[in-house]
Amino acid sequence: MRDADALGEFDLIRRYFTPAASSPTVKVGVGDDAAVVALPPAMQLAVTTDTLVAGVHFPNCTDPYSIGHKALAVNLSDLAAMGATPAWFTLNLSLPAVDSSWLQDFSAGLFALARQYSIDLIGGDTTRGPLSITITAHGFVPAAGALLRTGARVGDRIYVSGTLGDAGIALRMLEKKLVLAADFQPQVFAKLNRPTPRVAEGLQLRGLASACIDLSDGLLADLGHILARSGVGARVDVRRLPVSKAYDSVFGDIGGWDLALAHGDDYELCFTVPAAKQMAFNRIVPQFQCGFAHIGDIEAEAGLRLITDQGRSYVAASQGFDHFA
Ligand code: ADP
Ligand code: MG
Repeated sequence: MRDADALGEFDLIRRYFTPAASSPTVKVGVGDDAAVVALPPAMQLAVTTDTLVAGVHFPNCTDPYSIGHKALAVNLSDLAAMGATPAWFTLNLSLPAVDSSWLQDFSAGLFALARQYSIDLIGGDTTRGPLSITITAHGFVPAAGALLRTGARVGDRIYVSGTLGDAGIALRMLEKKLVLAADFQPQVFAKLNRPTPRVAEGLQLRGLASACIDLSDGLLADLGHILARSGVGARVDVRRLPVSKAYDSVFGDIGGWDLALAHGDDYELCFTVPAAKQMAFNRIVPQFQCGFAHIGDIEAEAGLRLITDQGRSYVAASQGFDHFA
C-alpha cells in the first residue's frame, strides 16, 4: 500500500500492528511469511473468524477505538461460546486510505482488549479497499472439552447471560426511531460499540453446559441453531428475558420483547444446563458478574414456543438477523 500520507504498508504494520510482547506459545509473530506457534500438550484448537464491514456491522460514525475493540470482541465471544481460552489472532484489514490518527485509535482499542484477554496478534494482511476488518481467533480447549451447539437434551434449562436488546436500542436511537433518557445512553452505546465477551463465563461452563452459543444474530435465531443442531425444541417465557433498566424505560409498559428477541449484537451467551449439572452450576453462579437468567426449558417437540402471561403465546415481529434475507 502506498499513500499520500507517505506511510507505506510495512511501516504501517510495524507502527500499529506489532505487539510489544507475546506469550511463549508464539515462536514467530508478526513480520515473517507466516507465524509459528506451539500448542500446549493435550490441547486442541478452536478457530473462529468474523468480518466487520463498515455500515453493515457498525454504523459509519463509529469511533476507531470502538471498531478495534468490537472487531476482536466478536471473535472472543465465539471463543467464549466454545469454552476456549483465547490464544492467538490474525488481523486482515482493508482500509480506504492511511489515516494515522484513525490507525492509532483503532490499534489502541484492539490491543487494550487483546491485553485484557491475553490474546496475541500473530499476523495479518493489509490492503486498500472499503473499510472492513476480518479477525481470525484461535483458542485452546482440552480434547473433546469444547462447548457445542449439539448437546441440548429434553429437560435442560435454558439460560442467558447479561442483558439483551441494548445494542438494538442504541442503533434505533442513532436511526432516530427511538428516544432514550440521557442517563441510559452511555450504557446502551457501550453495549453496541464495546461489547464484553463472556470468556471467563464460557470457561466456567465447560463440563456443565450441555450446549452453548453466543448471541450475535438475536436469541430467536441463535437459540434456534442450538435447537436445530440438537434435534430438540424449547419453550421460552418472554417475561423472563433479562433486560436492562434502559430497555425497561422504553419497552416496560408495552411489553415489547422484539429487540431483546431478535435484534442481535448482544454478545451474551445462551446455554443449556442438564438437571444432573444444576447443583454444580448453582455453585459457580456467584462468579458470573454479568448475571444470568433462566428463560425456559428444552422440550421434545421441535420448534421454539414463546409464551407470556397465562401461558398465552407471544408472536415475535422478526426472526433475527440474516444478511441475505
Ligand atoms: P506476505 O507478502 O507474505 O503476505 P505481508 O507483506 O502481507 O506478507 O505481511 C508481512 C508481515 O506482516 C506478515 O508477518 C503478516 O502476517 C504481517 N501483517 C500484515 N498485515 C498485518 C496486520 N494488519 N496486522 C498484523 N500483522 C500484519
Ligand atoms: Mg500478505
